[in-house]
Amino acid sequence: MRIIRTITAMRRVISKLRLRRNSIGFVPTMGFFHPGHVSLMKASVNRNDVTIVSLFVNPTQFGPKEDLARYPRNLKHDIQVAEAAGVDFIFAPSVAEMYPEKQLAYVDVGQIADILCGATRQGHFRGVATVVSKLLNIIQPDVMYLGQKDAQQVEVIKRMIKDLNFHVKITVCPTARERDGLAMSSRNSFLSPTERAIAPRLYQALCFAREMVADGQRDASQIIFRIKKLISDGTNVSIVYVSCVGLDRFLPVRRIEGKVLVAVAVKIGNTRLIDNIVVKAK
Ligand code: AMP
Repeated sequence: MRIIRTITAMRRVISKLRLRRNSIGFVPTMGFFHPGHVSLMKASVNRNDVTIVSLFVNPTQFGPKEDLARYPRNLKHDIQVAEAAGVDFIFAPSVAEMYPEKQLAYVDVGQIADILCGATRQGHFRGVATVVSKLLNIIQPDVMYLGQKDAQQVEVIKRMIKDLNFHVKITVCPTARERDGLAMSSRNSFLSPTERAIAPRLYQALCFAREMVADGQRDASQIIFRIKKLISDGTNVSIVYVSCVGLDRFLPVRRIEGKVLVAVAVKIGNTRLIDNIVVKAK
């Protein structure tokens, strides 16, 4: 496995791979790898000639009061994990390499970027869409692998790819979870033992919502009410949002009909956690 630091060196590698007609799988990440990242890497390794993982903590997707400076990093560990997963190249540019001067051109994906996580993280999805478009232009992969854990991010990127005619396929991988159901996340490392003990409530509440739907509940407000209660009762967890949204444009639904995404975001102490499941009314 090779670590590549510059755009020029990355482009040189890509040109060679293209000449050899190698298919390229691409996994964009911010590092601090856990088994969720590894599942994306392995999906790519299994289906492509070459797998490239980008490792870049992108400053333009963090708000001024967010956790950019303290975002967890461990390049040595990440290199070992990626190598063991069969990755061929890690593209790990510096901030100066990706943003040599003030970025003037941004990718704005409209309304879908302003709801759910976008409502409280202004500019977040604009930063995500912008860095992903830069990475796609550099790497030009055949397939890009994304995690369902960040369902809104998937939707934003799919929309960007469609509207801006990027030539890449998207494969979405299921959310990898700890034994107790907590969705794996680099940010879980911030949780104190007490906070970590509370964190599985997100998934437990989502599973309860699924049972409510299976038992015939169709009123989204009832489901949202129960989820909020299950998560926050007896804790100081602050709910950022609990939402039932349609799968196409992520707009809130009042009734559960067909497939609906139930998404939650909370703050446990200083740590923001998100999770989601798809429920289906028969
Ligand atoms: P991140 O490094 O957190 O930006 O995540 C990089 C990619 O890994 C994104 O496509 C995420 O959706 C995906 N990912 C993060 N956590 C998980 C998880 N628990 N299961 C599956 N994919 C994940």
